[in-house]
Amino acid sequence: MNLTRYFSRLIILSLSYIAVFTFAKVASATTENDQIVLTFLGTGAPRPSLERYGPSILVEAGDHRIIVDAGSGMRERLFQAGGFKKLTAVDTILISHLHFDHTISVSGLWLSGWLYGRRIPMNIYGPAGTEQMMMHLQKAYQWDIDYRGIVGVPLQGVELISKDIMPGVFFDKDGMKITAFEVEHMPVDFKTGKALKFRGQTLGFRIDYKGRSVVFSGDTRSTKESKILKYGKGVDVLIHEVQVPSPGNSKEAKLANVSLPVHSTPEQSSYIFSQTKPGMAVYSHIIPPDTTKEQLVRESRPFYKGPLTVAHDLMKITIGDKILVEKIKVMEEQSFEKSNVLKK
Ligand SMILES: [Zn+2]
Repeated sequence: MNLTRYFSRLIILSLSYIAVFTFAKVASATTENDQIVLTFLGTGAPRPSLERYGPSILVEAGDHRIIVDAGSGMRERLFQAGGFKKLTAVDTILISHLHFDHTISVSGLWLSGWLYGRRIPMNIYGPAGTEQMMMHLQKAYQWDIDYRGIVGVPLQGVELISKDIMPGVFFDKDGMKITAFEVEHMPVDFKTGKALKFRGQTLGFRIDYKGRSVVFSGDTRSTKESKILKYGKGVDVLIHEVQVPSPGNSKEAKLANVSLPVHSTPEQSSYIFSQTKPGMAVYSHIIPPDTTKEQLVRESRPFYKGPLTVAHDLMKITIGDKILVEKIKVMEEQSFEKSNVLKK
């Protein structure tokens, strides 16, 4: 994104919420085929929350339907966002790392998407260990698959194809390029801050589509070595995790703060935003999930003055000539008959 475009966005985004919603209405009437549309299915973390489900974001661009991370409740939020149609349309899940809050809904979408009409395989991309996890999931659900097969559910589409990926471009088709990069979420000694020897990798992603771009930080602390400084430079939308230290000495505060060395405080995330200058900076994967928008903005503003959005579940961001932030309308009636998914 060039400087003029960046500043024009800055001005647009400084306008009031009302203005943003007015833009949003115009945009939804004229959806263009070079847009990237993000739907935040879950904006929380491991701690159960009815307001913020586990981390998961739907990315739609052209014919692509991709989910980044499969946090708890992802299937239900996807159903709220688009009923059976969206539930059966997603055929790709990117996993940033193998923590349960990022993987727990893989089987939910893989199997219910198939049961309700997806007739193409589900593809999973993630760091080393993903293939093994998916092989075990397939084994775990073999009884279910065999059972449904024997009573007549077509087995086409139940395939689960997984790939362990390394940093670099791992997906490049139909105008979409996806790059993985390493982020700093591997375990460290809580007292010394030194890296502990441990297997695997933790990743962030950058998606490019027809000149639009979005970066997902994955889970990460923020240092001057952060690869997000490179991949997030001038990106349209930079989605970054955040953890606010829990005050006090309660058991829960202690448990939450153990993970602080591998996450980013508002000040640290703001440093990344201020260096990369995205068209829109977005907080998602918010720890603890009951942190308020006001608190995050207040703690970030001394360090980052640019456009900032605190994501909430079922928020939508459209990346086009403008960046539009909306709350999506939840589908009230979920009629399987009307969805026409079986006619595909
Ligand atoms: Zn996480």
